[in-house]
Amino acid sequence: MITVLKFGGTSVGSAEAIRRSAKIIAAGNGGRVAVVSAMSGVTNHLIQFLESDNARTDDALALLIKKHMDVANELLTGKLLKEFTKGFNERVDSLRDLLNDKGARSDPYFNDNISSQGERLSVLLLSYILMSMGRESVSLTSEEAGIYAAGPPGLGTADLQKTSAGLMMNVKPLILRGVIPVITGFYGRNEDGKPLTFGRGGSDYSAAVVANGLDADCLEIWTDVDGFMSADPRVVPEAIVIDEMNFGEAAELAYLGAKVLHPRTIEPVRMKHIPVKVKNSAKPERPGTLIHHLRAPKNEMLRSVAMKADLSIITVGSSEIAYRPRMVARIIDKIADAGVIVYAISTSLSTVALLIHNLDVKETLKHLNLLDPTDVERIDVKSNMALICAVGDDLLRRCGVSAEIFGAVFEAGANVELISEGASDVSLNFVVPTDMAIGVVKSLHRKFVGG
Ligand code: ADP
Ligand code: ASP
Ligand code: MG
Repeated sequence: MITVLKFGGTSVGSAEAIRRSAKIIAAGNGGRVAVVSAMSGVTNHLIQFLESDNARTDDALALLIKKHMDVANELLTGKLLKEFTKGFNERVDSLRDLLNDKGARSDPYFNDNISSQGERLSVLLLSYILMSMGRESVSLTSEEAGIYAAGPPGLGTADLQKTSAGLMMNVKPLILRGVIPVITGFYGRNEDGKPLTFGRGGSDYSAAVVANGLDADCLEIWTDVDGFMSADPRVVPEAIVIDEMNFGEAAELAYLGAKVLHPRTIEPVRMKHIPVKVKNSAKPERPGTLIHHLRAPKNEMLRSVAMKADLSIITVGSSEIAYRPRMVARIIDKIADAGVIVYAISTSLSTVALLIHNLDVKETLKHLNLLDPTDVERIDVKSNMALICAVGDDLLRRCGVSAEIFGAVFEAGANVELISEGASDVSLNFVVPTDMAIGVVKSLHRKFVGG
């Protein structure tokens, strides 16, 4: 039995939190593998450093050193503290060298390398804390563990086959010997051996990739809330914990804004039917959420609602587009060339509307403008839109449900700009202006979940 346990930033963010997390890892039976994020605030700190023109390397490092050494000094003593300090200083020294190496900045993967450094420090710390509790443990970077990735900077995708081979060679023997491997989340190594991150919050995905590669029996996501909830509790304080979900529901909600899971977490575990538990590392006795293949029907109209803001609708207008399928194909082709994610598509007789991220508008327009001008009558952009994703058992089956949902949207005073109904078999997705989105989420939750 192998369990992969992922701990997010807050779960390793202080001496108290990291000790609690180490106890959770040490407590269970069978093979245990931890995948860990950077201590809370560390990735942001590294990214701010990269974005600043006048930040000094030593100031940036001083904060990292204090954050980790404070915990080490509180939780470790004697030989373990000495060994940890030595390993930690080596990692900080190589980070300093990297930051001072002006030539390194021209590497397109330089930012990935720097922003993933927090994970290299947190795994070392957690591994030593496990040792201080009498457990055998080894910290491994993604390179050492054999997590392979490909893709553009900041947007890596794991190579599941190569990663599985790597993990079976580098990690499985440790598990069989009763050692607890603690592996860096957030990034893999690209084909040049350089760090490639999986996007913000990517440690959930790393953990799912590790669970897939090791054929684990269970993936546990330990975080700072009691489980997957009916809405983001920061937006809807009355949100309740969902006891059970299926993979499709969790995947759709994570993709469309439920930050509790990185958008790509579900696929690597769904492929191998590995159940996922989402639990609170500060309250491990609480049941949390079980995400698995099939769940019992609950007949709730709305189980959970998520929102994704900062999107834009691009509408391409061309006469009788619906009768010219090649024209639609050409538009889609240009979007593919732009390499952007399309969150929804809707067509009418003479328009194709696409929902993309605000930041992708420029690149998308650049490619759409390459279309033959005689083919395109106009291109409109509506920015600052938000996609609302509503998941529920009866949402797509029960007659009149859309009317009730859109009634709640109307009560929030919002206009629906685009609807994508029927594209997913678990969710109803629609677009409203971003400044209305929170009101819509609250209204839907109040009407259909309660509070
Ligand atoms: P971690 O550092 O453990 O990865 P994150 O901050 O990435 O934690 O994710 C947990 C946060 O996700 C919660 O604190 C909560 O505010 C937010 N969140 C958004 N949507 C949901 C949801 N549907 N259920 C639970 N939490 C959610
Ligand atoms: N430390 C990374 C981030 O802050 C990855 C993660 O937390 O999952 O985005
Ligand atoms: Mg997260």
